[in-house]
Amino acid sequence: MISAFTLLVVDDEKQNRALLTELLQSEHRVILAKDGKQALERARGHQPDLILLDVLMPEMDGYSVIRELKNDDQTRNIPVIFVTALDSAGDEERGLELGAVDYISKPFNPAIVRVRIRNHLQSVHQRRMLEQMAMLDSLTGIPNRRRFNDVFQQEWRRCMRDGVPLSMIVADVDHFKAFNDTYGHAAGDDVLRHIAVTLQTSLRRPGDFVARYGGEEFVILLPGIDSEGARALCEHARADIEAERIPHEVSAVAPWITISLGGATRIPQEETSNAGLFCLADTWLYHAKNAGRNRVAWAPAT
Ligand code: GH3
Ligand code: MG
Ligand code: MG
Repeated sequence: MISAFTLLVVDDEKQNRALLTELLQSEHRVILAKDGKQALERARGHQPDLILLDVLMPEMDGYSVIRELKNDDQTRNIPVIFVTALDSAGDEERGLELGAVDYISKPFNPAIVRVRIRNHLQSVHQRRMLEQMAMLDSLTGIPNRRRFNDVFQQEWRRCMRDGVPLSMIVADVDHFKAFNDTYGHAAGDDVLRHIAVTLQTSLRRPGDFVARYGGEEFVILLPGIDSEGARALCEHARADIEAERIPHEVSAVAPWITISLGGATRIPQEETSNAGLFCLADTWLYHAKNAGRNRVAWAPAT
């Protein structure tokens, strides 16, 4: 059952707003707008899951409203249903061409409107689930590389705007090929799941972000903290994984699973890019490996 959706009802006539509210409020949260300007404001501010839009309104009609909605990144993907007294095929065609997902003529049959809305919300729900799944790593359930790329961009811009440091860390399981060869691939998968959980549990300040980059490599973002602080957090995470004492008899480092981490901290600048920070962290991962593994290595400040 779908619940807790937010619907924005836009209609200049109070009676119509009341009718739709009465029809829908037992199943959904309903917010109202009485003209086009208010509709755009509320759509941006509340990010409703669906908009029911009247066509005939003074000043700004429904066609202008949907054009503006579709022109704005913040509101482009919110489905719109026209609810209107205009009922010629031409009006309906125009509404659908402008990007509405459905077109309901007034006067409407309440039961049918309710079911049609439910069906559209079902699609919204399914699309969100697919979007979410596409951003999660199927083995560990934590964010995947694609999600990391998005978050890295966002955090880079946010830290640049706020003038605060961003730390980027690459973590890699030590001698994991030998682990797989000894204990089997399924046991290796279990280890990756364990590491994902431990890293996420260990790094949980707001904004801390852990993803599986691929294979036995994880990436971490730690915004808003200096390099010493970030390095200390990583050292904790490393120790937490070592403390699990997952047997790894053939590791040259320790008789249990260990990870190596390479990190770098920079305050993002206009003229620099996040790709550079990634490379730096990756380089320092290799220093950590070469220095004996099971350790954190950090790029010096410039
Ligand atoms: P190092 O300490 O230098 O990192 O050595 P390593 O053996 O960990 O590194 P290498 O890159 O030689 O091997 C990585 C291994 O990780 C090989 C591969 O079988 C294993 N691996 C990658 N992805 C997965 C996975 O999804 N599941 C399992 N079980 N193993 C994986
Ligand atoms: Mg009207
Ligand atoms: Mg490895």
